[in-house]
Amino acid sequence: MQRAISLLIGVALLFSATPSTEATERQGARSGVAFTFDDGMSARGIREVLAAAVAERTPVTFFPTALSLKRFPQIWREISAAGFAIGNHTDGHRSLTLLLATSGEVAVRAAITGWREAARTIGIKVIPYLRPPYGERNTATDRVAVSVGITHVLNWGATFADTAPRCSGTIAKRIAHATSGGEGVIVLAHTGAKGRAYEPMTARIFAQVIASYRARDITPVSLDTMFGAPKRVIDWTLAALATSAPAQLGQPRVPTAAPAPYREAELKLSPGAAAGVCG
Ligand SMILES: [Zn+2]
Repeated sequence: MQRAISLLIGVALLFSATPSTEATERQGARSGVAFTFDDGMSARGIREVLAAAVAERTPVTFFPTALSLKRFPQIWREISAAGFAIGNHTDGHRSLTLLLATSGEVAVRAAITGWREAARTIGIKVIPYLRPPYGERNTATDRVAVSVGITHVLNWGATFADTAPRCSGTIAKRIAHATSGGEGVIVLAHTGAKGRAYEPMTARIFAQVIASYRARDITPVSLDTMFGAPKRVIDWTLAALATSAPAQLGQPRVPTAAPAPYREAELKLSPGAAAGVCG
């Protein structure tokens, strides 16, 4: 096991020489497609993505920030109880390479362990996987991550482009981006990106994105399953219940349905134009 871990980290290190933004993770040696949803700054965003995943019976992996865990503890508890994988996206969501350069290893270590502490406080199960904020990592930050028990530092090979400006690019182009990966790809999307309003497009295109991979016989899997962990058993009844989870214990449940996909004519528009926000 230790050797397997070292090998994986080796692969991670090998690919960290290039600044990790897109298409930096190796595909081919792995199978399936892992949909990963970062940040979780919007309760609506988390619930809508979850509702879309439930409607399609599709396992997804979440990388919420520590702030999201603290803000929406009950949602995360219910998502965890349903069996979804939840990984580390740091406390503070700062670039780890920048943090290392300005504040040293101690600060990088604190960002990673601080997230773990936030997860422990709300009582959820987590995987020892790290998604570095902005995809920014290098051999030194990876080494710090490994020293505090992280087994996998992973970016992505395809993206929903849901942090791109709303009024630029068409919805069709974003679907093309999200479906550009092959067997073994990790796909990035957001449930309310840090510092931005939630992009409703994310949940609205998700069913089409899933369908594209399934049509090519590429099966959606949890990220840890992609890297050799046993297939997760998702309790879909609990997952469906979690789509209406209160943000905090004691707050009301918010009914959430899987959002409708875009109509054909809307695919030529930008997400903002489809929503009537820009022309
Ligand atoms: Zn992020």
